[in-house]
Amino acid sequence: LTSDTFAGHPRGGQTSEERGIAVPVREVAGGIWSITVPLSPGVLSVYLVRGTSLALIDTGYLYTLPAIDTELRTLGLSFADVDLVLMTHGHPDHVGACAEIGGRRSLVHRDDLALLGGPAAHLASDLELSHVMRALDRDKEARTRERFVHDSVGAAVTGAEALDDGQVVDLGAGRRLTVVHTPGHTPGSAVLLAEPDGVAFTGDAVQAWGGRPGVLPLYADPVAYRASLDRIAELDPHTLALGHPYRWSGGGSTPDVIRTGPAARATLRESVTYAETARAAVARVLDSAPLTAAELAQRTIDELGAPYWTGGPGWEAASAQALLALAHSLGWRPAE
Ligand SMILES: [Zn+2]
Repeated sequence: LTSDTFAGHPRGGQTSEERGIAVPVREVAGGIWSITVPLSPGVLSVYLVRGTSLALIDTGYLYTLPAIDTELRTLGLSFADVDLVLMTHGHPDHVGACAEIGGRRSLVHRDDLALLGGPAAHLASDLELSHVMRALDRDKEARTRERFVHDSVGAAVTGAEALDDGQVVDLGAGRRLTVVHTPGHTPGSAVLLAEPDGVAFTGDAVQAWGGRPGVLPLYADPVAYRASLDRIAELDPHTLALGHPYRWSGGGSTPDVIRTGPAARATLRESVTYAETARAAVARVLDSAPLTAAELAQRTIDELGAPYWTGGPGWEAASAQALLALAHSLGWRPAE
């Protein structure tokens, strides 16, 4: 891998694709690239960071490997060039193809390390969305989800390394990634801050209004998620490089995953406002009669309204995870 491996690739100049992926490969800063690929449903962005070593941040699922490989080749690269795979957190869309990519080192925060154990590790985790689906009495959806995790997550990762808060991963050529533990979305969510660039790879630690219409911000620990937003704001990153194109006031119908300067600060502010609005909405809903999990989620989502919930055919079960966690933190127990 040489410094001109990336040379000649036009900044932001790629063909348009369906599903709002206007720019599948984009140079975020010199030697930092986003690669955006379709999920079913949605979109995921992974990142390349070049020092003298090449780091890939997040992996996608098994089924997104071919699309990422295609985009790597437009940069004159392949998975064989990846030295380090760093993961912002342990959710299956961010770690699911780690073993198959085969970087020389694989690293994730200590508190999500167990999620590198293949499909069985995800299905056994409290974080797994099939548990939310069952709490909502969506059993058929839960079974479909379990099959999906089984088919879309690759092998257990051997020799993975635990990251800790404050750790610095030196990529060489003056570029380093500092680990900032930002739990909430998952226990081991961590922002990887590229310096000297000031680019913060946030994974799903900053979600503004949620991933898509019908999907509200998703987090397992509401108190930790809210506190982590403050921690990220204190870093005052020049650029947020998000894991998905989270909706916000400036995004229109196809929000960008890269938010710089005022857009980065607004995305953080709007993430805080959502977290506090959701907490207040759950507290109001809990003042009424005893509620099942499905009733609690539906009434809270009705209460939230626009711009967070804009109607449509229905809300995805993922939207309920944070709302149920908020209700539990306020003393709610589901009605029988
Ligand atoms: Zn996630």
